[in-house]
Amino acid sequence: MAVIGAGLAGLSAARALEDQGHQVVVVDKARGPGGRMATRRYEAWRFDHGAQYFTARDPQFLQQVMAWCESGHVEPWGGRIGVVENGRIASAPAETERFVAVPGMSSICRALARELADCRFEWRVRQVALSDAGWRVEAMDGRTIEADALVITTPPDQVTPLLADPGLIATVGQALHDLVMEPCWALMAVLDQPLLADWDAAFVNEGSLAWVCNQAARPGRPAAPAWVLHATSEWSRTHLETGAAQVVDGLLDAARLLPGAASVHVEFAAAHRWRYSRARQPLESGALWFEQQRLALAGDWCAGSRVEGAFLSGIAASRRIGAVGDPPTPAG
Ligand SMILES: Cc1cc2nc3c(=O)[nH]c(=O)nc-3n(C[C@H](O)[C@H](O)[C@H](O)COP(=O)(O)OP(=O)(O)OC[C@H]3O[C@@H](n4cnc5c(N)ncnc54)[C@H](O)[C@@H]3O)c2cc1C
Repeated sequence: MAVIGAGLAGLSAARALEDQGHQVVVVDKARGPGGRMATRRYEAWRFDHGAQYFTARDPQFLQQVMAWCESGHVEPWGGRIGVVENGRIASAPAETERFVAVPGMSSICRALARELADCRFEWRVRQVALSDAGWRVEAMDGRTIEADALVITTPPDQVTPLLADPGLIATVGQALHDLVMEPCWALMAVLDQPLLADWDAAFVNEGSLAWVCNQAARPGRPAAPAWVLHATSEWSRTHLETGAAQVVDGLLDAARLLPGAASVHVEFAAAHRWRYSRARQPLESGALWFEQQRLALAGDWCAGSRVEGAFLSGIAASRRIGAVGDPPTPAG
């Protein structure tokens, strides 16, 4: 079987399929696992510029999170989190317990990938086509994999461009028709003083920013004055094709409007564009399954648009495939 994408959805699908006894190959275009659970390094600074933290409500995910806590890959985060509104900051309403992966958000994906038999990176899929074996997965550079079933976990907008079969393009296109993925510009900045004096992070309900977070305030991070700021979907959509330098300036201006932040100076700043950040209205299906073609589509956009949803969507895809998959051949 083949899985496209080594984000949390692809990796949880692959591990569940391996647990069922299937032989699985995971491919990802990136240099390492994680997808949107990403950690970027600049000199001594580390920024989680995608997912910031996660919650665990589903019992199966909670059980997995507890196992990661025991193995040291995850820690609870009791951060002081505020909400900025009308030029003031107040305490954010209590939420289910928050967790972060340590030392960076990609750590749990790295741990999962290490457990798998065959994970291939810098393997960008160009096309997937139905074949005698089931599926033929072809990379940009001509490498191929034959698989009896396929799981695709890319963002939904990137699924149909991979498909070769016109009939399937139409069917899948229809299933994904109403899904809209919102973009998000992320700013990574090193500051001479805290952006928020008494808070580790804040949801921002006014202006161009949606979230700001002191990276060092989370467990396992270096004590550097590194901050991640996320723009709102609306601002990110409007500035989707704006150059990174201009985005940096725009978001720093927005940051200086935060309460008490007018005199903050910036020692380093870089911007990253997430073209497909989160689904505006995610599906509730867990995963999409095209039985005749033995094709599963999975990802956070099938299950809540969060880290937890990505994990559960991978599991849902593995169940669909596992239910019809050939029984594994006994060894020896
Ligand atoms: C800015 C931002 C902030 C967020 N904040 C939070 C948060 O605080 N809490 C929370 O719970 N969630 C948050 N999320 C959402 C969370 O990051 C996602 O829900 C989760 O990481 C999605 O995992 P996934 O496996 O579904 O997709 P992804 O992580 O996107 O994985 C898809 C993988 O497919 C690979 N791929 C794509 N195309 C190809 C190709 N052609 N060939 C090979 N590989 C390919 C990509 O490289 C990628 O690794 C945030 C996301 C963003 C962007």
